[in-house]
Amino acid sequence: MMAPAHMIAGATSWAVYHYFVKPMPEASLIELVGCMSICSVAALLPDINHPTSTLGQKIYPVSKFISMVFGHRGITHSLLAFFGMMYLLTSIAPQQEYGLLITIVAIGYLSHLVGDVITPAGLPLLYPIKYRFTIPWTIEAGGVGGMYCCCFIWLVCAGAVYPMALMGRAPINALAKLGLQERA
Ligand SMILES: [Zn+2]
Repeated sequence: MMAPAHMIAGATSWAVYHYFVKPMPEASLIELVGCMSICSVAALLPDINHPTSTLGQKIYPVSKFISMVFGHRGITHSLLAFFGMMYLLTSIAPQQEYGLLITIVAIGYLSHLVGDVITPAGLPLLYPIKYRFTIPWTIEAGGVGGMYCCCFIWLVCAGAVYPMALMGRAPINALAKLGLQERA
């Protein structure tokens, strides 16, 4: 997927998390938009090893080095990188102060992996095992049509989330009744 699609996926994923996974009724709209923005940037992190990616261009020497050592869609597109990053972040940053930020980065990163796993090239999720995971119905990553298609899917998701959240947060309360979710 291309950078704009990843950013939309990241922002949308945070909206879904915000309303359905861990409801934060105390958060203002500005805080929500701020978190979505950070999540959309975090969603670019796995492409740090791609010198021509949006993020890679900004830190070209670093991305070129990682690309030469691990290749594109190598280690940074794996569960090893994800859990390694989480371990590092939770080790160096106190959970109390940075818990929300770490969660945002985690969700942005995961949204990128989900976005790429639906492309024909797939992902080496179990790196260093080279096998690439994908799904039977993939979306061409490089094509502009594919990018618009991805953006459209994620926006539909976001469009579905917001009205549902406004409608009395019915899905959240339903989950709470099942004991699956804290009542907001
Ligand atoms: Zn990628």
